[in-house]
Amino acid sequence: MSTSARGGIFGALGSLFREKQSFVVRLPYANEGESFEVCKMCEAPCVSSCEEKIVRLDGAKIPFLDFSSTGCSDCKQCLEACVPNVLRDEKRFISGHAKIAMSSCMSHHQTVCFSCKEPCLEDAIVFSGMFNPIILGEKCTGCGYCISVCPSGAIEMVA
Ligand code: SF4
Ligand code: SF4
Ligand code: SF4
Repeated sequence: MSTSARGGIFGALGSLFREKQSFVVRLPYANEGESFEVCKMCEAPCVSSCEEKIVRLDGAKIPFLDFSSTGCSDCKQCLEACVPNVLRDEKRFISGHAKIAMSSCMSHHQTVCFSCKEPCLEDAIVFSGMFNPIILGEKCTGCGYCISVCPSGAIEMVA
């Protein structure tokens, strides 16, 4: 099977996988269990402050991170912009970490692909030789840079 044919098949699987994703990634430095009630009445300066332009508002006006084009650089601009203090520099970075779905990952089906490895500055993605990458949850910061570069959409954020 050609690489492009595999890409088509895995790309389709990836689309299905993305549609199933349900974990919402809240902003870095939000408290665990935060209700975000304050956000509903806020002008949300965190959205325009983000240097990567990944902060969006959901239907309830609560901000979340959209990793569909890039990741969070930890620039802390959202933290600086959040005067109501919903974001506080006292917590771990992002709640959640990335995970590879083996069923969608090309490398788990004997097609060489290292697309996710390069953007991971934490070296949290480890391969077994040329294939079968996994993400080490204890090293992953949840920055999200590996997600949009995966040609088959096999990486999602999980709690
Ligand atoms: S600036 Fe802070 S309070 Fe306002 S929407 Fe963003 S996270 Fe919520
Ligand atoms: S830390 Fe910076 S890049 Fe990350 S979400 Fe906040 S503003 Fe955006
Ligand atoms: S989310 Fe960031 S730290 Fe985690 S595996 Fe992806 S690139 Fe690496």
